[in-house]
Amino acid sequence: MKTINIAIDGPAGAGKSTIAKMVSAEMGYIYVDTGAMYRAVALYLTENNIPDEEAEKHMEEVEVSLKFADGVQRVYLGDRDVSDLIRTPEISMAASRTSAIPAVRARLFDLQQKLARENNIIMDGRDIGTVVLPNADVKIFLTASAEERANRRFKELAEKPDCPTYEEILKDIIQRDYNDMNRETAPLKQAEDAVLVDTTELTLEQSAARIAEIIKERV
Ligand code: C5P
Repeated sequence: MKTINIAIDGPAGAGKSTIAKMVSAEMGYIYVDTGAMYRAVALYLTENNIPDEEAEKHMEEVEVSLKFADGVQRVYLGDRDVSDLIRTPEISMAASRTSAIPAVRARLFDLQQKLARENNIIMDGRDIGTVVLPNADVKIFLTASAEERANRRFKELAEKPDCPTYEEILKDIIQRDYNDMNRETAPLKQAEDAVLVDTTELTLEQSAARIAEIIKERV
């Protein structure tokens, strides 16, 4: 049976994962966060002191897998659930570098395509509509200004201890955008047949409603 595949791409902090989670729960689809896979590989390299130049040699031994409970994704390295450990600013920046390595992308590409063959999914990332699922049923490119994305992240982190400053968050976002858009393999860009949604002026609820509307029109 053919599965339904929805691709959502865009820069860091545009709200992809929050919105994709809301919409996939509503539609009964599985939500696949591919960024978490890159983060898990980055965590593996960091914990084992493997420099990026040597990552390729170690790709066979990295066992990244996803498990789903009530549609919610957990990420595993071997049999260890690393879903929370991968959410630090250090791993964000490490994943941004690690994801430029072709051998890392190749390793995760197969896993992502298999998930899409076997399930109705909403998959988010940077290269889903362009490289991983070029035949996706719906493609959305979700973006917002760097300042607005930094602002949202700052509000999210404000309650936490060691919260970075707004300026630090903005700097990280600009750096990650640059890395994602300028790498040679599978750079971040809008697929020709993707619908552009700019959420700079939209609330989360408005953005989710717009995405749900685009998907329902097409599926
Ligand atoms: O989406 P998230 O910020 O969690 O992704 C972490 C990093 O993984 C990103 O900065 C990006 O460089 C990389 N990534 C990627 N391709 C994807 C998903 C994420 O290169 N499909």
